[in-house]
Amino acid sequence: MSSPYIGRVAPTPTGYLHRGHGQTFIVAWKRAQKRGGELLYRDEDLDPQRCRPEFSEAALEDIRWLGIEWDQGPDIGGPRGPFRQSERKKHYLKAWEKLKASGFIYPTTRSRKELTNAAQAGLAQYAPPDEDEQDGEPIFPPAWRPEPGAGLEADEPGNMNWRMRVPDGLAVKFVDGYFGARSYVAGRDFGDFLIWRRDGIPSYELAVVVDDIEMGVTEVVRGADLLRSTARQLLIYLALQTKPPAFFHCPLVRDSAGNRLAKRSESEALRSFREKGFTPKEIYARKRPEESSPQVTETASEA
Ligand code: GLU
Repeated sequence: MSSPYIGRVAPTPTGYLHRGHGQTFIVAWKRAQKRGGELLYRDEDLDPQRCRPEFSEAALEDIRWLGIEWDQGPDIGGPRGPFRQSERKKHYLKAWEKLKASGFIYPTTRSRKELTNAAQAGLAQYAPPDEDEQDGEPIFPPAWRPEPGAGLEADEPGNMNWRMRVPDGLAVKFVDGYFGARSYVAGRDFGDFLIWRRDGIPSYELAVVVDDIEMGVTEVVRGADLLRSTARQLLIYLALQTKPPAFFHCPLVRDSAGNRLAKRSESEALRSFREKGFTPKEIYARKRPEESSPQVTETASEA
């Protein structure tokens, strides 16, 4: 309990933020505040094909509108930056080199498309769905793994997909601040996951772990859709021989039909609420009967 609390909000600028993102960021902010900690803002604009600068700007604006204040971020700078993932590639490369040197990752010519096709043809298993996911991902077939050591002489990650060699059968366990004890079995709940894409982009899993380590984050607050990712990320922490932060996953906010909110659902966008004249307080006070996010609302006020 000696290190000061450092939390973060980490939107991905692929669309406008919705009510659910806002809820998670409020929880992250309150948890940092309550602990006298610092809050970082990280723009996860990793994927140039999917992310757009106007959504980065919109996210800053929307999160500010919620009343959330951060101590360091892309708009105000700070010693833990840079705060845009597009500017942090050299940090990801260093981690890639380390993982490669220790044999935890391997390059493969198998594409994601091939994996999907194999799963559809019954030649690769699917991970079981969990309560927050419609479908589990296809598991990269162990038979497709190269021999240990193959391809590791590469100086750069380009032209190949690089995957983490997961320890099949190992139960990855952690205690989540909201959901309590969780356990995911490597090779069953997730397979060899991407570390670096052949189009030159590091994977989400790698980038987030590297950033959280280098920014000194002590608690990760994010949506429950990333619970299973936490198990993957814990394997990266282990491989990098770094102590992981604490985790607090917020239950997902659903629409009145019980579906997860999506960035494309315009009516749930924070800016739609703002344009209609709602205040942030009204959005989260469940003034409107059709809204139902009781657990999250409680979490926000307890946090
Ligand atoms: N950028 C991710 C998102 O918007 C969150 C990543 C994380 O918190 O680890 O869903």
